[in-house]
This record gives sequence, C-alpha cells and structure tokens, in this order.
Amino acid sequence: MAMAQLRVIFDLDDTLYPERDYAIGGFLSAAAWARETLGVTVRVERMTALLDEGYLGQLFPIVLKEANPNHCADDLKGFMRAYQAQRPVLKLFEDAAVALQSMVGGYSMGLITDGNARSQAAKVEALAIASHFSHIIYTGALGEKRAFHKPHPLSFELMEAALGREGDRFVYIGDNVSKDFVAPNGRGWSSILIDRPETRQTRIHRQQKVAEGGAPQVTLENMTLLVDVLRQL
Ligand SMILES: [Mg+2]
Repeated sequence: MAMAQLRVIFDLDDTLYPERDYAIGGFLSAAAWARETLGVTVRVERMTALLDEGYLGQLFPIVLKEANPNHCADDLKGFMRAYQAQRPVLKLFEDAAVALQSMVGGYSMGLITDGNARSQAAKVEALAIASHFSHIIYTGALGEKRAFHKPHPLSFELMEAALGREGDRFVYIGDNVSKDFVAPNGRGWSSILIDRPETRQTRIHRQQKVAEGGAPQVTLENMTLLVDVLRQL
C-alpha cells in the first residue's frame, strides 16, 4: 500500500506573489486605454494611492470621473475591461520562489484561487508555476457570481477528490483570514497563514477580519521555514 502523503495546497494572490503588482499592471493598461480611446489622462499614481487607501473596485469610477466628469457607463465598462485585459508581468515573493523550488518533486502540490478564472490563469502563466502543481482549481470557473469562491467548501472537496487517497492529509496555505481557512479547517485540513510583515500595509485584503472557524492553525512570517513546519504536521 502506498504511504499516506501530505498534500500541500496554496492560495495564489498575496500568498505566492504581491497582488498589488498585478493591480498596478492593470492600472497601466486601463490608463493607456483611457488615453487612446477616450483621450483623457488617468494617473496611475492616483489609482495606486487609492488602492493603498483601501479602495478596490470602487476606485475605477472615482478616477474616471476625476478625468472626465461627463463620461458614460460604456466608458467605465471599457476602462475596467482594459484593466482585466492586461498581460501581467509578475514575480513570486523571493521566499515563495525558494520554498516552491525546494518542494518540487518531494510534495504533491495544488492551487485553489478565487477571482476571474481567465485573469487567474494569466497570473499563473506569468509566474510560470503551473508545472509545480498536480491540480489547479479556479473557483471562478465553478459557477457564476463568485458562488463558489472561498469560503465555499466545493473547491476543497474537489481538491481532495483530485489528489487525495485513503489516509492522505491536506494543508492549505493562504494570506486571507476572512476566507482562506474556514473550509479547510472544517474539513480537517491543517491551515497556515503567511503574514509577511513587509506587506501588512499593502496587501489587497489586509483589512479583513478573522472569519468564524477561520483562524489559521499556524502563522508564519514567510515561507523560509515552511518545509520544516510541514514535516511536523
Ligand atoms: Mg490571497
């Protein structure tokens, strides 16, 4: 009988790479579209400042209105579409790159990530990490309107079905205490929060509260000691 294994499943945004970099890339793409198509100037610095103040989707109408108070609804749609259509250029967190590299071959790994499935797949491609994972689940592809985004348990059930055999254990590694750990905790997985001090002010979902049942079992400041921690699970 094969030995029971530990399956290591990761979140993507702000766990493996800084999501702020993706947002800024999208701002550049949207600003270029506004300049070329609408003939208006939207400043990327202004969008980034709003992002850092905690605005997410709401910043698009704000900056477009500042650039042109008379813009129409289609302008806003095109502006946001240009954000989505960016071709991302991204880099893994250094500690994540080292950890993933050291785990390839030794661990069976997976990825569960929320968001528009095409955008998330473009991020995976930009980071060149698809080959590290035995199975990738884009929750946005499971149903409409974020129905199966975390904390919904479906993606975790599907991951168990895809990778798990009798006796296997699972661990989920994420950054967002409001949604990442509810389902894995509930299904008997281990849960590890990566809370990098240098990104505490810039993480996209930094203002979230800990969900009921969603407290991580282990908190690490980066992935440098991840493999040692996994050995003790
Ligand atoms: Mg995340």
